[in-house]
Amino acid sequence: MNIGELAGVGPKSVPLFRELGIESSRDLLDYLPFRYEDLRFPTPSSALGQSGGEENAVGVVEHVKERRVRGLEIVEVRMRDDAGAFTAKWIGRNRYVYGRFKEGMRLFVRGRVERTLAGAVVNVAHYAQLRDGEAYHGEMVPVYRASKDLTTRKIASVVHKNLTRLLDESGDDPLPGDVRAKAEYPALRDAYRAVHAPKTPEEAERARERFIYTEFLILAAGAQLRRAERERSHDASALTVPHDLLEAFAHSLSFPLTGAQRRAINEIWDDMTRDVPMNRLLQGDVGSGKTLVAAAAIVLAARNGMQTALMAPTEILAAQHASKLAPLLLPFGITVEAIYGSQAARARHAAEGRLASGEALLAIGTHALLTGSVDFARLGLVVIDEQHRFGVEQRARLRAKGAAPHTLHMTATPIPRTLAQSVYADLDLSVIDELPPGRTPIETYAIRTSRLERAYEFVEANVARGHQAYIVAPAIDEESELTSVVAEAERLKSDVFPNRRIGLLHGRLTSREKDEVMGRFTRGEIDIMLATTVVEVGVDVPNASVMVILDANRYGLAQLHQLRGRVGRGAAKSFCLLVYPDDAGETERLGILTESTDGFKIAEADLHMRGAGEFAGTVQSGAADLWIADLVRDIDIYRAAKTQAEQIVAADPALRRPEHAALRAALERAPSTRALVLSS
Ligand code: ADP
Ligand code: MG
Repeated sequence: MNIGELAGVGPKSVPLFRELGIESSRDLLDYLPFRYEDLRFPTPSSALGQSGGEENAVGVVEHVKERRVRGLEIVEVRMRDDAGAFTAKWIGRNRYVYGRFKEGMRLFVRGRVERTLAGAVVNVAHYAQLRDGEAYHGEMVPVYRASKDLTTRKIASVVHKNLTRLLDESGDDPLPGDVRAKAEYPALRDAYRAVHAPKTPEEAERARERFIYTEFLILAAGAQLRRAERERSHDASALTVPHDLLEAFAHSLSFPLTGAQRRAINEIWDDMTRDVPMNRLLQGDVGSGKTLVAAAAIVLAARNGMQTALMAPTEILAAQHASKLAPLLLPFGITVEAIYGSQAARARHAAEGRLASGEALLAIGTHALLTGSVDFARLGLVVIDEQHRFGVEQRARLRAKGAAPHTLHMTATPIPRTLAQSVYADLDLSVIDELPPGRTPIETYAIRTSRLERAYEFVEANVARGHQAYIVAPAIDEESELTSVVAEAERLKSDVFPNRRIGLLHGRLTSREKDEVMGRFTRGEIDIMLATTVVEVGVDVPNASVMVILDANRYGLAQLHQLRGRVGRGAAKSFCLLVYPDDAGETERLGILTESTDGFKIAEADLHMRGAGEFAGTVQSGAADLWIADLVRDIDIYRAAKTQAEQIVAADPALRRPEHAALRAALERAPSTRALVLSS
């Protein structure tokens, strides 16, 4: 039913509902309140001010005293209830209460209470006018996410007027009956009633949990089905691991593998010996040595006569993989074929020929690998670097170039294990949580913009000692208040570092220009590189020892940590200076970076500060699209739902049983599960 057909929704409010994403009565039913005003027990005026927290009061307006001082509204309303009198007080800008109250009106008010000689004063945080016939008094009043023109009050009133019609749209319950009975959750229709019109906070909370549980059940069942489907396929090549291969591999290196690398290699190789296609995520901080682990996977594939395709999001990154992998693979007779967009046609054609014939065992490239002209004779392994930068469909297209190849995803964006297990529920996880020995941690300082020149003096001192530096700024041109690399580069050239060679790197350069300027930096022909966050991934210049990040308050902690990882890759002690505006209250947040260099710890902090939705957005997943559940806040409910989903899928692998029909239908509709598909 269209929202416009509901009682109380006129043609003018239809677009306002649409702005909030509510088009149909079903959408409105699913538009759950995010909190409630508990109006059940207003405090009598004589008892106000004893709790110390916010309190509720209900009374009739006796007298209104109001004035406006330069946009500031000061409204004091004298109210009376059965026990006596009290004052409700509003002070502030844009509170829209001036002129609103008249003698005789009945009001509900909520706020902190001050006791004064003239009696209790409620500093009103929320209020509602109690109209006759609208029996709000004595109820739990739902509060909905509202917009400027469509208030929560209006939404609540439409829900209230149409409640029965809305509840009739509850539909089939995706939560199987026996599961619901076991958990003692309310029936679907009752749960909707309980969230929109609860009698008690406990009832609302219970219903809410039921919706969260169900949403997680759908999410987990989706992941479980994909996993089960993969487990059933048995069409991957089961590779054999020659007994001395790990030792031969370790021997070919000039340093010992870390324990974490050894463990990751074993996990990956174990997967590859099965005829079920591997689907594994390798997580590790920048510099943790993931490249080496990928090399081991490539060596195993090659030993079994199978080819590998490694795809990276940018040419810089692909080229770096190629140059790092080439020496590691050479002892095993594997050479690298590069497939880039900017490649000359002849070279590309020749490389394609060697891949199609099976003569070449490894292709490294960008999205160019996805083009139709790239064919493999025996593609057995797909490695996807920075997997979140590719879409589901792109990853699938690369895999389709082989018959059920094993897939290794890699990411340098550490996310906490708990979250990773739910966000990437259909992936197995390998974590490199140990840096190679001998690294000195990057010393990090947070400094205010007013001390920027001091930071630049520090840069100058390091450059004078023969090192290089990065200065990162958020914008390219001066189109906002943000520092722009172009403007800052000019200023630095003329005023601050007149004797230094300054380079400029940003996303509007062509990839050829980017490669050219990066090349000069790598060769030491540039002292100071002004860059946007394009340096975030992939760039590896050991001689760079200082990283200055301007407007550091603009970035998430995880991203700052990644940027910082561009230095500290050589023998010299490295520094990172986080510069933030004097008026930004960033000390606490940036303090986490000055105190820790552990990417997983930082990610955990970031997660708790920004919430799962925000965070997951940066790792690409359906977690950002969840309806009411939150993977961090509700992690315990998630665990319970996941266990349940495993049991359901084990018992009914295609969800064909009638009691699972609604769950199956919900799964097919759910955007979150669709977005989560990493396999298939
Ligand atoms: P990642 O890809 O995880 O950012 P890399 O694989 O590029 O990290 O490794 C970073 C650096 O550490 C490289 O120079 C690499 O040679 C070196 N490295 C890797 N593993 C080890 C190890 N076990 N011991 C010493 N150095 C290592
Ligand atoms: Mg790497």
